[in-house]
Amino acid sequence: MSSYDVIVIGSGPGGYVCAIRCAQLGLKTAVVEKDDTLGGTCLNVGCIPSKALLHATHMLHEAEHNFARMGLKGKTPSVDWKEMQAYKKDTIGQNTKGIEFLFKKNKIDWLKGHGSIPAAGKVRVGDETHEAKHIVIATGSAPATLPGVEIDESIVVSSTGALSLGKIPKRMVVIGAGVIGLEMGSVYARLGTQVTVVEYLDTITPAMDGEVQKQFQKLLTKQGLTFVLGAAVQGVEVKGQKARVTYQHRKDGSEETLEADTVLVATGRRPYTEGLGLEAVGVETTDKGQVRTDERLSTNVEGIWAIGDAVTGPMLAHKAEDEGIAVAETIAGQHGHVNYGVIPSVIYTHPEVAAVGRTESELKEAGIAYKAGKFSFMGNGRAKANFAGDGFVKILADATTDRILGAHIIGPMAGDLIHEICVAMEFGGAAQDIALTCHAHPTYSEAVREAALACGDGAIHS
Ligand code: FAD
Repeated sequence: MSSYDVIVIGSGPGGYVCAIRCAQLGLKTAVVEKDDTLGGTCLNVGCIPSKALLHATHMLHEAEHNFARMGLKGKTPSVDWKEMQAYKKDTIGQNTKGIEFLFKKNKIDWLKGHGSIPAAGKVRVGDETHEAKHIVIATGSAPATLPGVEIDESIVVSSTGALSLGKIPKRMVVIGAGVIGLEMGSVYARLGTQVTVVEYLDTITPAMDGEVQKQFQKLLTKQGLTFVLGAAVQGVEVKGQKARVTYQHRKDGSEETLEADTVLVATGRRPYTEGLGLEAVGVETTDKGQVRTDERLSTNVEGIWAIGDAVTGPMLAHKAEDEGIAVAETIAGQHGHVNYGVIPSVIYTHPEVAAVGRTESELKEAGIAYKAGKFSFMGNGRAKANFAGDGFVKILADATTDRILGAHIIGPMAGDLIHEICVAMEFGGAAQDIALTCHAHPTYSEAVREAALACGDGAIHS
């Protein structure tokens, strides 16, 4: 048995970042992880492997569609799926090994095995019980499914199976037009798969800005994805190596079926707290199964904290990381803080989609008077040169004070561009603050400045 100041259960971006900050603040720290590698969903079966496949297939798309236009002639690359999988695996390995290195550097113990909390101040791993002044639950999430749809990770897969398919399918049905469904759908569409996305709601990416949704759907359709919106999946039947997906149009109740080699169930994720013993120790959960926390991320049991996908809020790696740092600082007697109003969300398709703050419909609903400054990438020289003129930047600012309330970008490097707006929002900045800042030419970021200018006297290049 060992004694620690802090034991973190789970080594995803929430848990490992929390542990490193705890160690930096002088706390004796251990992390319990049941899987063979550190890094959680994000590094092993989430953010990192999906971005590797998105990158590789985007390169293929560029070679197929844009190289010849720039005078780059030659044979279009063919796809070696095994090699692409090996590249993905190598990327994961470099990242997970990196966390192991950081643990050693910061003298964090990795307690290998499944952790549970037999009592406040105690963590059980295998046959051993360790003592901890503070316990941080960072056990993350697992894929959710639908009634009538059984995931076998072979024909009917979650995102985990979709990242490691044995071969590239001819036909794929993606259930759910959210971030994960569209990213993985894009990967396979670029590899030649006929991808049909079936979505219950009438729009794709429901939380996004309405104009972004429309343009995004148009661009993905141009890239070969087919959308069936307003359709409720009734069930998936597997026969041999094929699946039949039955869905009902919500408008008129009519039913249709689609055949596919692979069905990706991308209907969201659920918090994972199995086997922790929360009930016995008296930690409250919500009706959605999330660990209930207060504004300091403390549970109702003194000394037990919770962060990341296991608690409420967007299921995003950087939100988990921020909460990990905040809890570590609070435990160390500092003032841990997460600004939930400024958490960017990004879809890493091509073009990328990024958002922060409020949407127009949210502002309208809240009765807040705002102005919208919009600028198309068609007016951006760099984007035009790079065949990346599709999309726009939209900044929403308070009608009276000019303070930035939200921003929505669809276009090249949107996931990076969003951050100058995040920084401005963090400082309580106005659209004019961005408009008055010199931006290097020619960069995509000039489109952000132009959108900020459009909140005032007008953009220059539109
Ligand atoms: P997790 O990363 O889920 O880690 C939890 C860890 O706890 C796991 O390693 C698990 O094995 C371990 N564990 C659980 N219970 C126990 C136990 N009792 N004992 C020991 N160990 C335990 N987010 C982004 O921000 N950007 C992206 O681009 C992005 N892409 C994604 C793509 C896909 C395909 C998926 C599935 C997710 C993606 N996400 C992305 C979401 C992101 O992965 C999660 O939000 C993030 O991993 C949550 O971090 P976490 O630390 O809360 O939990």
